[in-house]
Amino acid sequence: MRQPTEIESLYIDFDAFFANAEKQLRPELRDRPVGVIPLESEHTSLIARCYLAKQAGIQRGTSVREARALCPDIALPVARHDVYVKLHHRILEEIDRHTPVHRVWSVDEMECALSGSERQRCVALAGQIRDGLRENIGPWLTPSIGLAPNQFLAKVAAEMDKPNGFVMLRPADLPGPLFNLELRDLPGIASGIHARLGRAGVFTVEQLWNLSPKQARMIWNGVEGERMWAQLHGYAVSRPETVRRMFGHGRVLSSDWRQPHKARECLRLLTAKAARRLRREGYTASILAVSMSCTDGQRWSGEQGFFPARDDHTFLREASLLYDKGLTALHANRMKKVSVILYGLHRSGEASADLFDHDDSRSERHRWERVTDAMDALNARHGTCVVSLGPHNEPPGGYAGAKIAFGRVPGLNEFDTSPDRSGRVKLSL
Ligand SMILES: [Mg+2]
Repeated sequence: MRQPTEIESLYIDFDAFFANAEKQLRPELRDRPVGVIPLESEHTSLIARCYLAKQAGIQRGTSVREARALCPDIALPVARHDVYVKLHHRILEEIDRHTPVHRVWSVDEMECALSGSERQRCVALAGQIRDGLRENIGPWLTPSIGLAPNQFLAKVAAEMDKPNGFVMLRPADLPGPLFNLELRDLPGIASGIHARLGRAGVFTVEQLWNLSPKQARMIWNGVEGERMWAQLHGYAVSRPETVRRMFGHGRVLSSDWRQPHKARECLRLLTAKAARRLRREGYTASILAVSMSCTDGQRWSGEQGFFPARDDHTFLREASLLYDKGLTALHANRMKKVSVILYGLHRSGEASADLFDHDDSRSERHRWERVTDAMDALNARHGTCVVSLGPHNEPPGGYAGAKIAFGRVPGLNEFDTSPDRSGRVKLSL
């Protein structure tokens, strides 16, 4: 295992992303406390809040009723995931101007792996990224930036001085400031592991630091424990499997599969396949993109962000909604190709409490996850698809269609963005 002697990772985590996005886009909200809600209802809870609202004691997960009681002048816009995903892509483009984005961790978190001379000028580079974002995206969408010898510590550093933070953890600084953190501040320490650590007598980051790799392995009951130990101690932990950034399938339709209802079936099938591969490799996805092209040359693509999910129900629903949007935009009756991509990947169970998550959806999601797991188990036992959500009709011809290339951050230009009939570029989300 390699122990870097320099800063190798730059991690960007936007502050109160949804709430600040609303402030950036709607100047009338800028001086007000803002909480973002998932739907127009007095019986839901906030999925994001700005720092003004935080000062009034409002958190993510605070109910609308409580938020109004704590903060009578709070503005409660309904989340516009499509708009946030668009912003996300503009942000990626901006960061790419300074240094390549190595990995997208979520709609508001991304990581750059610094190479060569970038490691020496990392502080200046962070400043340039911040300036670029302020000038080209807007001053209300503030990033917190962390610099550290590895991604794990860079993420921790980005969290340490929010909002608008900038923290550098050099190898020589370790463990130092880490001991001021709570165990739960560390990525990967959620309630289950936290309880196990407690049972092993580990209540502080200092105690965690002082474990041996072997002890950590025992507490985690697996190699993840050693990984945690190594990352915390500043080692470069290679995770070859996390190089993956997306799962997707595309298919050129045979002539008898080109009617819109058949193309939809094909898209469902491709989505279910991509989802199965995602689960098999132990990921969740938080963005689904659909691309469609017609026999007359028109193209459309769109994408939708959501809480990190791994169940068929979520993916099939989002794919269907996007397909409907595409059909409406295209006015076409002969489809030529459909594709789907799942990205915004996390390791299953690793994603921290998410921006998109709220109580209402969590229990429903867990139900669908159980249904999906049961179907996967059945299908695995029979070696073929014996159960599926909705119809499962395999189009003829196997894999005739283009496969989508993986292992790269999907830039907007990699989706179909050619002009539609009206000459407008359809990035429509
Ligand atoms: Mg954030």
